Amino acid sequence: MKQETGVTHPPEVKLPEDNHPLVPPLYQSVKFEFESLDETLSNLRGERPGFYYTRTSNPTLRQLELTLASMQGRDDCVVSATGVGVISQSLLALTKQGDHVLCFVESYGPTRHMIRRTLARYGVRHTMLSILDKAGIERALAQEPTRLVIFESPTNPTSRIADIEHLTRLARAHGALTLLDNTLAGPHQHGQYDIDLYLHSLTKYANGHGDVMGGAAIGKSELIRQLRAEFSLLGGSMDPHAAWLIQRSLRTYFVRYRAQSQSALQVAQYLAAHPAVEGISYPGLPQHPQHALARAQMSDFGAVLSFEVRDGAEAARHVAEGLKLFAIAASLGSTESLVLPSQLLGARDLSAEQQLASGVAPGSLRLAIGLENSADLLADLQQAMAEL
Ligand SMILES: *Cc1c(COP(=O)(O)O)cnc(C)c1O
Repeated sequence: MKQETGVTHPPEVKLPEDNHPLVPPLYQSVKFEFESLDETLSNLRGERPGFYYTRTSNPTLRQLELTLASMQGRDDCVVSATGVGVISQSLLALTKQGDHVLCFVESYGPTRHMIRRTLARYGVRHTMLSILDKAGIERALAQEPTRLVIFESPTNPTSRIADIEHLTRLARAHGALTLLDNTLAGPHQHGQYDIDLYLHSLTKYANGHGDVMGGAAIGKSELIRQLRAEFSLLGGSMDPHAAWLIQRSLRTYFVRYRAQSQSALQVAQYLAAHPAVEGISYPGLPQHPQHALARAQMSDFGAVLSFEVRDGAEAARHVAEGLKLFAIAASLGSTESLVLPSQLLGARDLSAEQQLASGVAPGSLRLAIGLENSADLLADLQQAMAEL
């Protein structure tokens, strides 16, 4: 064999049957081969296990999917390149012309845009309510056959809590699928509820280091099999290296999530006692109007909180710009703390009435707490809010 041929067909390193790496390996390969054409065809017909092409599946992606499914307490999972990718692909896969979708003003912006612009273009209708409007939810589901309900808990940025038991019971009774964007709670929470599909942005707590994007849909194997086929056609596959890095990050997930939750509670307690603060929303705080519901549903309350300063938008800007440890940047759940003032939280696609219902006020700020020492975060907030 000539040298050029040798480097394109390198020697294979095979581990003995009883010899395993402690860290799941990275299969950075687009293609996989079988020994024969018949075995390849049998794999493509779904008659034998194995991998063929990474857009459809890959052992490193599969490793991450199995880990996430097990964290969420479900059979199966399919990952994708981003959280938004998973939401959009799931909505496209599960709806058709004439369907009706129930969604909420407190939803993540791109989820609302996807429903209001893209799905609308394909003739999918929707009703948008506040997640707090229980009577409205009952009415909407009773009035109209509904294909699916998509919601979040806690909501972003105002940390409202969905009554998941109530929602899932009603949806089931009316034959609607439930899709819970569980990004803020994380894949270790809410598994006890009768949710059809959990959606996650892995960019947040799962990866947790602000350097990789990803998304996951988790549910029963039958539904995931259906989604996997559609996702493969829509083409937003995750790269194996991203999956490997997220798998690596999951080893510290619980330590990070709990440390960040603990710091967030300390920050929330500090802000609740601050004279310039009008309102504070953190589900772990006993003053939160839905604290009892949050306690019943969750074991850890997460790293996101929002509060309102008395003097409105300019005071919110002053605080955001005065903070030294908190970067004015999007995302959440990473090692570094972040702040978003109302100017960056505004939902421009909502009507004035819907904006009001969503709970974001001119003086609102959202904090995402990282892994810094909480005493430093409190000192930073104190100096940035000293002149309010
Ligand atoms: C960030 C986020 C998403 C989108 O995830 P990306 O990975 O940024 O595409 C979806 N839902 C919620 C609740 C989020 O916070």
